[in-house]
Amino acid sequence: MADKYTEFVSRGFGRDLARKLGLPQPVKLRRYTPEQPLLDGPAVVLGQGDGAEGVAAQLLDWGLDVRRSIGGSEKIAALVLVLDELSHPAELSATALAAGQLLRQLRPSGRVVTVSRDAASAMEPATAAARQAVDGFLRSLAKELRAGATGNGVVLEDGADAASPAALGALRFLLSARSAFVDGQFLRVTEGDTVPDGGREPLAGRVAVVTGAARGIGAAIAASLSRDGAKVILVDVPVAGEQLAATANAVGGVALQADITSEDAAQRILDLAGERFGHLDIVVHNAGITRDKLLANMDQARWDSVIAVNIASQLRMNEAFLASSLFRDRPRIVSLASTSGIAGNRGQTNYGASKAAVIGMVRASAPRLAEHGGAINAVAPGFIETEMTSRIPFATREVARRLNSLQQGGLPQDVAEAIAFLAGPAAGGVNGQVLRVCGQNLVGQ
Ligand code: NAD
Repeated sequence: MADKYTEFVSRGFGRDLARKLGLPQPVKLRRYTPEQPLLDGPAVVLGQGDGAEGVAAQLLDWGLDVRRSIGGSEKIAALVLVLDELSHPAELSATALAAGQLLRQLRPSGRVVTVSRDAASAMEPATAAARQAVDGFLRSLAKELRAGATGNGVVLEDGADAASPAALGALRFLLSARSAFVDGQFLRVTEGDTVPDGGREPLAGRVAVVTGAARGIGAAIAASLSRDGAKVILVDVPVAGEQLAATANAVGGVALQADITSEDAAQRILDLAGERFGHLDIVVHNAGITRDKLLANMDQARWDSVIAVNIASQLRMNEAFLASSLFRDRPRIVSLASTSGIAGNRGQTNYGASKAAVIGMVRASAPRLAEHGGAINAVAPGFIETEMTSRIPFATREVARRLNSLQQGGLPQDVAEAIAFLAGPAAGGVNGQVLRVCGQNLVGQ
């Protein structure tokens, strides 16, 4: 499972060889710990106008070393491009080219984040063009960054301003090491009940359930939510009972053996949450399976089981959760989709259908969650190093692992951090969306 190649090219002979042969040179990414500073160097805020001023003031407030310009040799941890006032594509050049001049100073695992407005809400063609231009600019720039640096954007929808809490919550996540494997993506925000900086335990007082939590990504999600202060119920099938108990112990959570495809799964979760904690606030639909076959060879059992676990169970459980008085206080749901559900993947028609279905469900459910001050979003992982992906044949796995801007597979923790963000107070303005955690996989958008 370990990515031996990345270890090999990280030092000495391996590094020199990779450089000479022009091979991928993935670097170890800076990952989140509660003790670390938000950034490990200065943040440069580029752009004119009130938005840029407001963002710079807020970053100062977070204790960052904020600059509006910087000397030619100093290393930079983050570049924030505030582009909220664009009304013609010609206006993009000043900030874009200024950023270009600073890219060589960007530290390993550095950050470039744009803040711009939603193109779809622009009435004027020139304004819409300018706003949409940011999309192509940022996604291309992200592919030029090296050494674990990432490029992502915050898109302001109606009502949100560059320095509003919803925008700042998303910006803080994209600047932080929590977004290590998020690259080339946009987070769209509207005004919402948001606390951009929730401190060391942003989920204190919250009760979460994570399905499929015995191992892999689910275990990492349970660990991240627990570390962030939530009480966590870990659900997995009875055959995984031993591993489930061990994981629950390790993260200080409560284990519940249940098959999510059973009729009473949601009720059993609600009963346990009610009994132990009196409420349920966060649901993470992580349990998922693959039963890969080319469609020409696909049988009914393979098709049906994937649909049953990956989407039908979520639809049924959400009905029960949303009907419950225990799930009323700013409820959050986060579902696991997949890049296979966005770009498609050979041999995965059943899985791709189920994961695209998750995206459809999330979009349509957003208003229902908003009624209670809550939100529902999906996370679409790309290639993540887990037991699921360790079963992929070696050559295919090696290609899949490198085919992204960061030239490596993500870790379960990377998906978990994105989910902890979407479950937390900083993501109050994010609803009905899909956040890819894929290192800017070359497949799909
Ligand atoms: P995994 O196979 O390692 O773990 C999945 C867990 O879900 C297991 O513990 C399993 O017992 C549990 N589970 C399966 N069916 C269940 C059921 N009916 N009821 C309760 N629990 C059940 O998988 P993983 O790689 O950790 O993936 C987790 C999620 O992330 C899945 O939804 C998967 O589709 C998605 N995902 C993974 C990747 C990746 O690269 N690993 C990529 C994209 C999406």
